[in-house]
Amino acid sequence: MPVASDVEAIRSDDAPESEGLPINELFCSLQGEGKLAGVPSVFVRTSGCNLRCWFCDSYHTSWEPTGAYLSIDEIVDEVRSYDRADHVVFTGGEPMIQDKSVALLDALADYGYHTTVETNGTIYRDAAIDLASISPKLASSTPTPERDPKGDGEWADRHERRRIDIDALAALVDDYDSQLKFVVTGREDIQEIERLVGRVREAATTGIPDEDVLLMPEGMTQVELDAKRNDVAELAVEYGYRYTPRLHVDLWNDAPGT
Ligand code: SF4
Repeated sequence: MPVASDVEAIRSDDAPESEGLPINELFCSLQGEGKLAGVPSVFVRTSGCNLRCWFCDSYHTSWEPTGAYLSIDEIVDEVRSYDRADHVVFTGGEPMIQDKSVALLDALADYGYHTTVETNGTIYRDAAIDLASISPKLASSTPTPERDPKGDGEWADRHERRRIDIDALAALVDDYDSQLKFVVTGREDIQEIERLVGRVREAATTGIPDEDVLLMPEGMTQVELDAKRNDVAELAVEYGYRYTPRLHVDLWNDAPGT
């Protein structure tokens, strides 16, 4: 089972906002998605996001952000306490909205950690990133009034305006080992994925092989994934992209800290 940190125990009121990062949770588990699925990793999940996907699987980092500020030293100490994992997944929310993300990634690099940054690809930063795991959000993610988990659709316009930044996507692809990981809600998403991959390929100077384009079924529970995973796998075969599971859901359903 994943090892959950006693986050409450490491939350410090001594780390002022200006010196730290808002942390929602910190735990050790298996990377569940992408090229490194299955690798034991420490997850550092920041709170706060510039988007509001209706299907967000970390609701308490986006729709209702919660967490506490930890200093860089406190975060690194906690990561180091999991002495069997040498991979760190820096995730959110959207971790790249945090100014202190660069300092944290530098500190983790100094200790020799492999860092994966899970990002929606709307913000570029020059940082010690070993794998940019970029998940551009499709039109099907927009929290329309019918899909808004809070009920009124007030985020729909902002989400729609912000969700794609081709320059940021191209810079991430050019500067880092990367994967483009799409949350697929159904077959109707594939045309937008094709168009978007084409636009990023045009804007970037680095080639994007099909095997770095990953299709992942949308779903936060095993029941939801059961309904979609085969369709998404068949799309991957049909279009020559890679399928990625959501291993943590397959293994532990929607348990927190996984
Ligand atoms: S970009 Fe990611 S963290 Fe932000 S709302 Fe969408 S799924 Fe949630």
